[in-house]
Amino acid sequence: MIDITLLGTGSPMIDPNRAGPSTLVKAGDSVFLVDCGRGVLMRAAAAGVGAANITALLLTHLHSDHITDLSDVITTRWVTTFVPTPLPIIGPPGTRAVVDATLAALAPDISYRIHHHADITEPPSVQVYEYTDGQVWDDAGVRITAAPTDHRPVEPTLGFRVEHDGASVVLAGDTVPCAGLDELAKGANALVHTVIRADLVQQMPLQRIRDILDYHSSVEQAAATAARAGVGTLVLTHYVPPLVPGQEDQWRAQAATEFSGPVEIGDDLLRVSVGN
Ligand SMILES: [Zn+2]
Ligand SMILES: [Zn+2]
Repeated sequence: MIDITLLGTGSPMIDPNRAGPSTLVKAGDSVFLVDCGRGVLMRAAAAGVGAANITALLLTHLHSDHITDLSDVITTRWVTTFVPTPLPIIGPPGTRAVVDATLAALAPDISYRIHHHADITEPPSVQVYEYTDGQVWDDAGVRITAAPTDHRPVEPTLGFRVEHDGASVVLAGDTVPCAGLDELAKGANALVHTVIRADLVQQMPLQRIRDILDYHSSVEQAAATAARAGVGTLVLTHYVPPLVPGQEDQWRAQAATEFSGPVEIGDDLLRVSVGN
């Protein structure tokens, strides 16, 4: 059994009710945080998970909305862990530079806390692993593989497939349909896919917003990916524009034009379980 919790279903567009992009994946005793957008630890707390409980942080890419709260994850993990436990951070090339710069920005705070607390003697401990594809995790019965996605000009970007006890969940991140994701998602129990409503975004007056059409999947495109890959359940997240409560059926109807299986869509903390 793998449990998916949508911690943040928002996007760069501010929505008072939706945290930034982040998904929690629980597989056996392991807890993976996939991306860490704004407000992620508030939502994780609501799901019963603290920063100290995170087994590893996976980053699909380095767009700001997906990493806004990286400093909060690193700092809160550090100050709430009593036996220093390194946080593995797995992401595409460029991740190490972002983590190093975040730690540099935190240097004053790190020094304040080390000087103030007798039992904090070391700076935050992180272990960064950069991948472009292949197996990125194999521990405690959980295997995670990564594959390149297509979010150009943002590159490289990754999708992740988490497998545990015969169950499988794929996290697409931000991407247009691509062969890497098709292969990664093949036969998975669930595909968590970020989406935009192309019909609505096309009508937006600002060119800067319409620009996002060329590197995100529409609801229909995400659904077509799910159909090609033969996944069990399609879980939609990262709603652009923000999903208005009561309009879930519109989004579901668009997905149903391409994918006949179950489609999950909803608010932050929506939980989906797959496997036995
Ligand atoms: Zn992005
Ligand atoms: Zn995004």
